[in-house]
Amino acid sequence: MPSSLAINSDYKRTLLDSLELFRGVQPDDIHGLLQRCDRRDLAAGELLLSPGAKNEHVFIVLSGSLNVHVGSVDTPVLATMDVGACVGEMSIIEDRDPSAFVIGAEDSHLLLIHQTVLWEMVDASHEFAKNLLVVLSERVRSHNRVIADSFGEIKKFERHATTDALTGLANRHAMLETFPTAIELCIEKEKPVTMMMIDIDNFKQFNDLFGHIAGDRALAAVAKILSAQLRPRDLLARYGGDEFVVLLPGTSQEQALAVGERVRVAVSGSTGDSSDSLIRIPLRISMGVAELVPRGTLDRLTRDADAALYRAKNAGRDAISD
Ligand code: GH3
Ligand code: MG
Repeated sequence: MPSSLAINSDYKRTLLDSLELFRGVQPDDIHGLLQRCDRRDLAAGELLLSPGAKNEHVFIVLSGSLNVHVGSVDTPVLATMDVGACVGEMSIIEDRDPSAFVIGAEDSHLLLIHQTVLWEMVDASHEFAKNLLVVLSERVRSHNRVIADSFGEIKKFERHATTDALTGLANRHAMLETFPTAIELCIEKEKPVTMMMIDIDNFKQFNDLFGHIAGDRALAAVAKILSAQLRPRDLLARYGGDEFVVLLPGTSQEQALAVGERVRVAVSGSTGDSSDSLIRIPLRISMGVAELVPRGTLDRLTRDADAALYRAKNAGRDAISD
């Protein structure tokens, strides 16, 4: 329960300097106002502030410590407020509910400054007003740090995600994870392995003509046709942009060229599901096929398939080359 604050005057100066809001404040300036503050005991685990519960006080930790959680009290501790720190000032200044949960990290004693007293302290002491600004700017800094960290985490997840969101295919990261193992297996079993690089012809023009959204849909439709044309053991990935890559384990270059021709015809609309909107638009693909050379690597195979694709483009597009 709140009780009247009683601190003797010798102790007051030292105590004030140890509290971030009162650092450098002349005790006489706020003496009367401090008399109007209460003190509260908070047990370990007890909830002090929560979003949705209006707050009218700034709480200063006189002993013990408080934990701050965002989202729910079950999330990891965002920050621990030790002796001298304050909480609750943001919700008062913004006149909004608290944005975080604050609970006792241990049994704690708190000084309570009611919002009306807080504003009177700002009027009464220049140092107090300055300290409040410092606290607020530190809050903004720490929020920015949290945002920057979260952004870094998102980037990390994106890098580590294995699926391309637009087509649902494996992405390049997944390709780099799975292709080497499949290649090694073929080498071990002395089986051929080929790579097919596929690139949509004049796709920039397609985007210009039909719009980017139609372009996205076309990419997804091409991905669907490619998946349907390949065997389950063939590894298909979106290499990036309008480029796809397929690894065909146990398939020779000659066989891969036949597969490629089937895929090319399916995409160009000579065969396939006539209900697919892609069939009605002029989309063509070019392909480059390369077989793994003795002591070859994924890198070398990719370069060879890329060079073959370049030849197919140079040959006039809507073509396959080795
Ligand atoms: P080329 O026949 O030489 O391949 O010509 P191109 O116009 O297809 O040229 P290129 O392959 O270099 O360009 C690919 C274009 O694909 C560039 C970009 O506008 C488009 N593109 C890449 N990714 C996406 C995407 O996710 N959605 C859409 N709508 N377009 C994309
Ligand atoms: Mg292209």
